[in-house]
Amino acid sequence: MTLGRWMPVVLLLLPAVVAGQDGRQGAPAPPDSPEVTRYVDEARARAGADWKSAYDFFCTAEPNRANRPDDPLLEPSRIFDNVYVIGRVGTAVFAITTSDGIVLFDAGYADQLETVLRPGLKAVGLDEAQVKYIILGHGHADHFGGAPYFQQKYGTRVAMLGADWDLVENPPPGRGAAANPGSGGAARGAAPAGAPPAPPPPKRDLVLTDGQTLTVGDETFRIIAVPGHTPGSMCFKLVDQPVLFSGDTLFPGGAGNTEKDANRFKQIIEQIDRKLFVLPPDTIVMPGHGDDTTVGTERPHLQEWIDRGW
Ligand SMILES: [Zn+2]
Repeated sequence: MTLGRWMPVVLLLLPAVVAGQDGRQGAPAPPDSPEVTRYVDEARARAGADWKSAYDFFCTAEPNRANRPDDPLLEPSRIFDNVYVIGRVGTAVFAITTSDGIVLFDAGYADQLETVLRPGLKAVGLDEAQVKYIILGHGHADHFGGAPYFQQKYGTRVAMLGADWDLVENPPPGRGAAANPGSGGAARGAAPAGAPPAPPPPKRDLVLTDGQTLTVGDETFRIIAVPGHTPGSMCFKLVDQPVLFSGDTLFPGGAGNTEKDANRFKQIIEQIDRKLFVLPPDTIVMPGHGDDTTVGTERPHLQEWIDRGW
C-alpha cells in the first residue's frame, strides 16, 4: 500500500464529535454564533426533507450521543491504494485488498448487511466472495453484525481476541441491542422486554493474541490488544505503513468509552500510552466511529484525558 492516493475527504468530513457512549466522549462544541445559526436555518429550510438525517447528525445539540443505526451513510470510497471505507458516519467498515483476497476490519450492523455493506463493497468494485478474513476490533454488535453472513456463505475466517469471543458468547445481562445502543450492545444479552432481537454473533474461529501478526497475501497486519472499552478490544496496524485502525479504543480527543469504570479507564489509558503512543507521530488513526486523527495530534493530550477522568 502506498499513501500516494490517500483521499482524506470522506473521513475529514466526519464530525469532530460523534460516537458518544460507544466511542470517544468528546467535549461539547461551543454554541454557534447568530450568523452561523442564520445560515444553518436558511439551508435547512431550503433543503426541506432532504439531508434531514445528515442535519440531525451534524448540527443538533447532542455532541456526545451514541452512534445510531441511521447515522448518515458514507459514500463507499477508496481512501488508499488498497483501503476502502464503507458504512455509516457513525460506524465504519474498512476493506483492505491483498494479493490473496480482501480483509474486512469490522462488519457493521447485522440488519444493514443488505442495505449498506454488500452494496457498499459492490459500489467500490469489490467482490464480496473474495472476503477471506474479517478482523473484529471488539465484540459489540454494531461491529460484528455482518460477519456471520460471510462466515457461512464464503467460509470467511473471522478473527477476534479471545476475551471478546468470550464476550459475544456470554454477553453480560441487560446489554441488549435496544437497551444500550450506545454500547454497541453486546446485543445477545438479556435484553429487556420490547427490545428487538439481538443479532447472532459469528462462530468462534480465529483467536488472536496481542502482538501477533497476520499475513494475508502481500499485506501483514499487527494485532495490538488495548483492553478497556471491552476486555478484548484491539487495534490493527498495517505493518510498515503509518496506518492504524483503532476500533473503539482511540478517537480524536480521547479514549474509547469505559462506562465510567475507573479500572477500565486506567487500563485503556495505560495501554494507549504504552502501545499506541509509541507509534510514529504521523501514524494515521482511523477509529470505528467518526473522524480520523494522528498519533502526534492526540499524544500531547493524554494528561488532559487523565485529569478529566474520561
Ligand atoms: Zn463498542
